[in-house]
Amino acid sequence: TVDDVKGCFRRNAFVIFTVAAVIVGIILGFGLRPYKMSYRQVKYFSFPGELLMRMLQMLVLPLLVSSLITGMAALDSRSSGKMGMRAVVYYTTTTIIAVFIGIIMVLIIHPGRGSRDEFTKQEKIEQVSPADAFLDLIRNMFPPNLVQACTQQFKTQYAKRVVTVTLTVNESVFSLTNGSDELKREEVIPVLGTVNGINALGLVVFSMCFGLIIGNMKEQGRPLRDFFDCLNEAIMRLVAIIMWYAPLGIMFLIAGKIVEMEDLSVMGGQLGMYTITVIIGLSIHAVIVLPLLYFLVTRRNPFVFIAGILQALVTALGTSSSSATLPITFKCLEENNGVDKRVTRFVLPVGATINMDGTALYEALAAIFIAQVNDMELNFGQILTISITATAASIGAAGIPQAGLVTMVIVLTSVGLPTDDITLIIAVDWFLDRLRTTTNVLGDSIGAGIVEHLSRHELRSADAEIGNSVVEE
Ligand code: ASP
Repeated sequence: TVDDVKGCFRRNAFVIFTVAAVIVGIILGFGLRPYKMSYRQVKYFSFPGELLMRMLQMLVLPLLVSSLITGMAALDSRSSGKMGMRAVVYYTTTTIIAVFIGIIMVLIIHPGRGSRDEFTKQEKIEQVSPADAFLDLIRNMFPPNLVQACTQQFKTQYAKRVVTVTLTVNESVFSLTNGSDELKREEVIPVLGTVNGINALGLVVFSMCFGLIIGNMKEQGRPLRDFFDCLNEAIMRLVAIIMWYAPLGIMFLIAGKIVEMEDLSVMGGQLGMYTITVIIGLSIHAVIVLPLLYFLVTRRNPFVFIAGILQALVTALGTSSSSATLPITFKCLEENNGVDKRVTRFVLPVGATINMDGTALYEALAAIFIAQVNDMELNFGQILTISITATAASIGAAGIPQAGLVTMVIVLTSVGLPTDDITLIIAVDWFLDRLRTTTNVLGDSIGAGIVEHLSRHELRSADAEIGNSVVEE
C-alpha cells in the first residue's frame, strides 16, 4: 500500500538520499567537466560541500572530548580496561593484516615494473629510524599545552632539500612544494597525530585519563560527568541536524572533485597499475577480511551491519576525512546498528584517531612501489622496516584529507627512499585517499561492533548494577 511505501521510504530515507547524492554528484561532475571551470568557479561550485566539511569538523573537538570522557566515566576501571584491551588487540591485528595485504599485493602485481623516464640519482637523505617514528608518536600523546593542542595550525618542513609540506589546517588544503631546508626534527613531530588543528592523539589520551578519574571519583565526580554527558548529548543533536544536510554536501564534494581532477590520462602505465593495486588491496581488506572477522567473532551477518553504516562510509568517500566523518559514524552505529553508547563513546574516538587500516595498507604499498620505480631491490629487513614504520605512520596520521601522504615521508626515509618521489603518486592520491578513508571508517565501525560483542558480559553486569542501585534508591 501507499503507507507501506511511505514507511519504507522514511526508514531508508538517509540511505536513499546518500546513494542518490553520490550518483548525482558523479553525473554532475562528469557533465560539467567539458566546461573547464576555473579554480575560482570550482571553489564556488563546491561551496555547499565545503560547508559540510566545516560543519562536521566543527563538531569533532567537542564530540571527541565529551564522548571519551563520558565513555570512560560510565565504566568501572576493570571493564574499561578489558574493553580497551579488546580494542587494542583488534586495532593491532587488523592493521597488521592490512599492511601484510598491501605488501603482498605490491610484490605480486609489481606495478613499478619498467624503466623510470627521468630517473635522477637522489643524494642520500638523512634516515628517520623506526625508533624515531615511535618516539614522535609517544611525544604526541602528551601535548604540553592542552589549549594549543586544540587550536594548532601546522607548517612543517621535512627532510633535507626535500619537500616543504604545508598543512593549512582550516581549509584542509595540503600542498607540497620544493624547499631547501635542513632537516628539522621538532617540526616533523606536529604532523604526527594532528587533526584539523587538533592534536587528536594527545586529546584522546588526556580525555581517557580524565574520564577514568571522574568515574573513580564516584559521587564527587558527578557534576563533571553530568556536564560532559549533557555536552555530548547536545552535540549529537546537532549531528542529527547536519545529517539531513549531508547528502547535499556530499553531492557537491564529489561533483566538485570530479570537475577539477586531472585528466585520466595520468593514469596510464605504472601509475595506473599502482592505482589498481591499491584498489585491489583495499577491497580485499574491506570486503573480505573485515566482514569475515566480524562474522567469525559475532556470528552475525556483516553486510547487514555494513548497510547500517552506509551513510558514514559515503561521507568518508565524500570528505576523505575519518575525523570529519566521526559524528556520522556515531549516529549510524548507535541508531541503525544499535551499538551500545558506552562502547561507541569509548572506542570510536580512539579508532578514528589511531586505527587506520586503509592508510597502513596504502603506506606500505606505496613505499614499495616507489622502490620498484627506482629499481631498488628491498631485502627482508627493509620490508619489515617498511611494515613497522607504515604502521606507526598510520597511527600518527591525522584523520584529515591526504594526511597519509604526509606521513609517508617517515616510511620512505626509514629505508632511504627518495622522499621527492612522493610527487610521483600525488596525482592519484586524492582518489585513493577517499578509498582508504572509507576503509578506515569501516575498520573503526566493525571494531566497535566486535568490541561490543566481546564486552557483552561486562555491559550486562554494569546494567544490572545500575538496576540494583535504582531499586535501592
Ligand atoms: N584521509 C585519511 C583519513 O582521514 C587519512 C589518510 O590520508 O590516509 O582517514
